[in-house]
Amino acid sequence: MADKNSFGPLKDVPFTFFSLECPVCGQVNEYKKIKSGAFVEAKIDTDFCPQERIWTFPENQNLHPYLFLLLTCEKCFFTREAEGEFLEWKKDENFTSQILPVQKPKHLQFCRDKNHLIFQLGSNLDVSQYPQQSLIIKLLLAIADEKLKDDPSDFKIARYFLMMAWVFREQERPSYPAAATPKSNSLNKQLKAFFEAQQNYSGQLRRLKKELEPKSNKMGRALSDLTEQDELKIKCLKWIEETQATFDFLNHWLGKLENLVAQEKQSKSKINPQENTFSKKYKNYPNFTALLKKLKENQPEIALNEKESLELALVYYKKNFQGLDILGKEIQKAQTGYLIGELSRRVGDHSTALQFFDFSIKQTQELLQDEINVDYNVALAQKINQLAQQQKNLIG
Ligand SMILES: [Zn+2]
Repeated sequence: MADKNSFGPLKDVPFTFFSLECPVCGQVNEYKKIKSGAFVEAKIDTDFCPQERIWTFPENQNLHPYLFLLLTCEKCFFTREAEGEFLEWKKDENFTSQILPVQKPKHLQFCRDKNHLIFQLGSNLDVSQYPQQSLIIKLLLAIADEKLKDDPSDFKIARYFLMMAWVFREQERPSYPAAATPKSNSLNKQLKAFFEAQQNYSGQLRRLKKELEPKSNKMGRALSDLTEQDELKIKCLKWIEETQATFDFLNHWLGKLENLVAQEKQSKSKINPQENTFSKKYKNYPNFTALLKKLKENQPEIALNEKESLELALVYYKKNFQGLDILGKEIQKAQTGYLIGELSRRVGDHSTALQFFDFSIKQTQELLQDEINVDYNVALAQKINQLAQQQKNLIG
């Protein structure tokens, strides 16, 4: 059961523990739940992918929240999202009397069948040794179990494939910022002080030069007409110009230095392509992709990378979109339409992207103009409208 202290103070651990009986095999599993505030996500991508995840405790920095979101039974691999309904599944009448009787016998058979995807996924799961790869396996298990239902949720399957795309994306481009070392922080601070001092001095010089500069009517005078004072001014101006050139030179080198510091910082945060976790040896396979390829031989709905995950997400979001022609679901339809547009844009299907962006813009405009029907989230409609316009413009 969900721990009531989950939202309590962080203290020194970011997790609470709880146990939950597997509805399929009866095993009582111990799970961890992330405490509220254990990490923050500072940004969100245009396909709603959370970015820049920062954990309160630096030693957790490599943990992914999905590891705790997807609950997998240790014994039979049955996987479901840690949503309220599942945490209280015994009280969920619809689940116990309608869904479980269909899902349970199929899952029990498939989790023991060496030729079935569920056994193959479950037996290759290894959260402690391979957390990133296990995220993909857990998502594939959740999809496989969802598909065992009489009436699988297209929305859930679409979302799991989208989450999978985000996991693949994070492998390529880690979304967490590089841990700034005290040394690079101190260097940055000093460089900033240098730049500021330099700007101060050159500003003062510019003002001095302006004051000294001869008025335009004096410019045309012959050299012989110059007074002693004028000559002094000219000398001064020349000196100022030389000093300014020195400042420009200093500025140039400070810029170079700043680049070097930035590069050093980046090289620490960047995952080298050779170091991509998915191309490292995985159990008995040369790498994780090799395992996925093997699974894909019998099950076409396995994604090998971000693009394939997005394409599969699109298949299910489009199915889900068809089912949203219901009064009161206008905002949901606009949001799903936007997402289909954005995912299509990302996989390079520009005509579909334009078609869905246009739908989303029109739908949100209609909602925002309708003053009688205010039974929707106005801020959300405005946000979707703005995002759809912005991402449509990227296609041109
Ligand atoms: Zn189980």
